[in-house]
Amino acid sequence: MPNFSQKIGDLKGSSTVAISDRARSLQQQGVNVVNLGGGDPDFDTPRHIVDAGVEAIRGGQTHYVASQGIPAFRKAIAEKLSRENGLSYDPDREIVATASGKLALYIALESLLDPRDEVLYLEPAWVSYRPLIELIGGCPVAVSLSPADNFAVRSTLLERKITPRTKAILINSPNNPTGRVLGPEELQVIREVALKHDLWVISDEIYEHLVYDGHRHVSIATLPEMRDRTVVVNGMSKAYAMTGWRIGYLAAPSVLSEQILKVQQHVVTCAASFGQIAATEALQGPQDCVKTMRQEYDKRRRRIAEALNSIPGVRCPLPEGAFYFFPEVDYKDYDSWQIAEYLISEAHVAVTPGQAFGEAARKNIRLTYATSMANLLEAVERMRRALAV
Ligand code: GLU
Repeated sequence: MPNFSQKIGDLKGSSTVAISDRARSLQQQGVNVVNLGGGDPDFDTPRHIVDAGVEAIRGGQTHYVASQGIPAFRKAIAEKLSRENGLSYDPDREIVATASGKLALYIALESLLDPRDEVLYLEPAWVSYRPLIELIGGCPVAVSLSPADNFAVRSTLLERKITPRTKAILINSPNNPTGRVLGPEELQVIREVALKHDLWVISDEIYEHLVYDGHRHVSIATLPEMRDRTVVVNGMSKAYAMTGWRIGYLAAPSVLSEQILKVQQHVVTCAASFGQIAATEALQGPQDCVKTMRQEYDKRRRRIAEALNSIPGVRCPLPEGAFYFFPEVDYKDYDSWQIAEYLISEAHVAVTPGQAFGEAARKNIRLTYATSMANLLEAVERMRRALAV
């Protein structure tokens, strides 16, 4: 057989996707698995959004559309960025609608990086940041944040990793998996480093609506001199329970958006036409669905964090945002891969190993609370029994 790419051969698959696939396949075989693996809201997409998508399909909106995104959706995105984030972007030149937040990250990174350019990212970090950078031929550079310091971003930690090849910093707030919401001082630290070393910032804001206890999401692009060196990445999946629609977007200064658009044209042409119409309705229609879902996540967050903390050997901080718990689990001398394997095979609870988010998280596992309270309570009881053995 001829060879395939060494680079892809060396690339790690996505643990979150693999665990969800495994849980789904066990469920199809009749195993009663509680899936706390991938972060996929258990809510259905709100009815008015579904109706807009279905009407679009019935109305024949099933063709290619402008690569950059349909004008109505780009306008809705620009209005949303202004209304909710205090950011001003030209919908015709600075916004690109694409097929998921993930693809937005990919086309942005592809447009920014030359081979071996370095991108700093903050660990623990979502499983796909590192591989996405590697896929493009860039060098991912992990900046390890300390759990003992509540994963705070410190200037010295960033400065230590800067080299002449550093091109960008990739940030994610609220954070997957820790739930940390970057505070004003931390945003300021990142800003100062970016300005001092002339770096781009890619800001993944997909969990922006999921913040609790008075925490507030602020886009780094709103800080002085940051807008024109930032790519704001967002999508419909988490706030509007639209994971399967695969609709995301980005906002960036026009000089960069033009480059990004070329990548989009070649990689995907455009995001699904009817999905963009549904997403336009999501951004422009009633917003109480977002609030209702957030309130439900908040209830689960409080109740289940407490329940997890009542299991001997489990220490679960209350997350500030997103919809994941990231507890430390002390079980025998198991690392997080072993704990996750043990929990799925013995307790039929699917969780993501902490080490998938960075090697330092040896004792952590990630559990999503984007599933029903009944499922969560069942999972906690199964874990309690399994970890007592
Ligand atoms: N972003 C979600 C997660 O971290 C969905 C799966 C994925 O894209 O990684 O679980």
